[in-house]
Amino acid sequence: MERTLVIIKPDAVQRGLIGEITGRLENRGLKVVGVKMMWINRELAERHYCIHKDKSFYDNLIAYITSAPVVVQVWEGPKAIEIVRHTFGATQPLDANPGTVRADFGMQAERNLSHASDGPETAASEIANFFEPDELVEWTRCTDPWIMLKERGAAD
Ligand code: AMP
Repeated sequence: MERTLVIIKPDAVQRGLIGEITGRLENRGLKVVGVKMMWINRELAERHYCIHKDKSFYDNLIAYITSAPVVVQVWEGPKAIEIVRHTFGATQPLDANPGTVRADFGMQAERNLSHASDGPETAASEIANFFEPDELVEWTRCTDPWIMLKERGAAD
């Protein structure tokens, strides 16, 4: 089953949106298998955002993600990576569809409330950046048969 990393960013934590964002992912049907609150340090922020090192917004991005505590989560489900990104909406809140987290709560990319992995390889490396293997919990949810068809295969 596919896994993806979510960061509920400092602005969302400060605004009291941990429950709102987590609830949207739970309501969608995804299963949480890892969660922690933390204050991201500069070294971890630079590792997480190394792909953006040369971008004009990089310094502001590092300052933003290290400015206050975040909640980091790992979510599991069929096509979990796409499902989370669909729930959060486009990076720029003005491009995000109404009903998504970024459209409903955001105005600017610099304060867009949430991070979600963008592909299977990124998800694996981001999860490893934030969680030790024994911090992820394998568990069975009794409602799973009412949410998804098991026989559809790993990432379907
Ligand atoms: P991503 O790796 O796509 O999640 O991008 C990292 C983060 O950088 C986004 O979630 C935004 O917070 C920020 N970001 C991305 N693009 C821009 C941009 N054009 N201007 C300002 N911030 C941006």
